[in-house]
Amino acid sequence: MNSVIQAQEIILAHSQRLGIESVPIDRALGRVLAEDVAANRNHPPYDVSAMDGYAIRHADTAGATREKPVVLKVVDDIRAGSVPECAVATGEASMIMTGAPVPDGADAVIRVEDSRRRSHKGEHSKEEYDSDVDIWAESPPGDHIRLMGENLRLGDTVARAGDAIRPAEVGILAMVKKTEVAVYRQPTVAILSSGDELEDIHEPFDVAKIPNANSYTVMAQLQAIGIRPVVLGIARDTPEHLKEKLLEGLKYDVLIISGGVSVGHHDFVRPTLKDMGITMHFWRVAMRPGHPMAFGSTEKTSVFALPGNPVASMVCVEEFVVPAMRKIMGFTKLFRPTVEAVVGRSVKDKEGRMHFMRATLEKGADRTNVVTSVGSQSSGILMSMVNADVLMLVPASSTGLNEGEKVRVQLLVGSDFQQQPDLEI
Ligand code: AMP
Ligand code: MG
Repeated sequence: MNSVIQAQEIILAHSQRLGIESVPIDRALGRVLAEDVAANRNHPPYDVSAMDGYAIRHADTAGATREKPVVLKVVDDIRAGSVPECAVATGEASMIMTGAPVPDGADAVIRVEDSRRRSHKGEHSKEEYDSDVDIWAESPPGDHIRLMGENLRLGDTVARAGDAIRPAEVGILAMVKKTEVAVYRQPTVAILSSGDELEDIHEPFDVAKIPNANSYTVMAQLQAIGIRPVVLGIARDTPEHLKEKLLEGLKYDVLIISGGVSVGHHDFVRPTLKDMGITMHFWRVAMRPGHPMAFGSTEKTSVFALPGNPVASMVCVEEFVVPAMRKIMGFTKLFRPTVEAVVGRSVKDKEGRMHFMRATLEKGADRTNVVTSVGSQSSGILMSMVNADVLMLVPASSTGLNEGEKVRVQLLVGSDFQQQPDLEI
């Protein structure tokens, strides 16, 4: 039987990028760039002020203090987005705003806080240029000046194919006027639940039936990583109906089925997939919950057959489907992040399978991470996932963990992912 890591490796080997599409910049967040992007300009295009203040010649400020200010004549008022009207000569200063071009002759900027205008005849009034300014501090050359091209240099690569597009990348793309960017294509994903006992969300309540949770947890788990899956409903436990639904699902890049994958009398998923010519790569993984998980593929479609128990289905999505989807989407960081924690309350475990225990993570007295099981670890109790924010990764070799022992835990929320799965077998 495959370990979790082996199963992940097989799945990832069958998960490849799907090609490239172009998206407008307002849809680019969370995607992966499929092109290198170069700066179309120098930015700033010339030396600009980093502060609101006065552009001056630094030599003029020699010896300036609050008690003995240097007095300079203000000759211009340079706003960001405008150009200087005149140069700064010895004994002169130009009022300057953050981001405005430094005038010829000036080699430093004095902050407003280090100056006082002698008479200020009102903002925007031309007369204010006639006034003098007291400078209270010496300035080194180049102070508070952002150099030409400090931010972007014409022709420099500002983002590369393979980069994840975060808010910062969106900003850079906007600065270089990329209204559309090439990104790796998202997979199309279909979700199918199977089981005669299932009652779907819009069906009337029937005490004998089991409410369909898995279609919606899987849907939401995929939405959480930026995928918009299609929910195909429920396949009944007959090979005919199952086949009909599977045929629909095989039109997608990825098909995720839950239930009917075990060895029960009505578990037709695996034999039906086989009959339909889908190559099955494995069935069963040494894990708890999630043991009966299967994976197969056709030329076009990856097929994940998840166990029906709601927690098992969710854990398999996190451990197998999420990394595969991220790889298809072009990411190199595929796995949920893990951190080290100490066990808050002892737990017992059976040897042989890696256990993903539902748990909560808190900061202990000395800021260490403390992880505590949420209680019942039955794979049918979806509330254990509702109450959990992490999975405690209990190795297959473990028979339990004592309070205070160290253990790795996997975080379940957030947009942060890491390169390695960090699973100990
Ligand atoms: P199975 O894997 O089909 O044997 O199902 C195992 C358990 O999970 C059974 O109790 C099922 O009723 C339950 N189950 C299967 N599919 C779902 C689903 N979509 N939502 C909630 N529970 C399910
Ligand atoms: Mg079933």
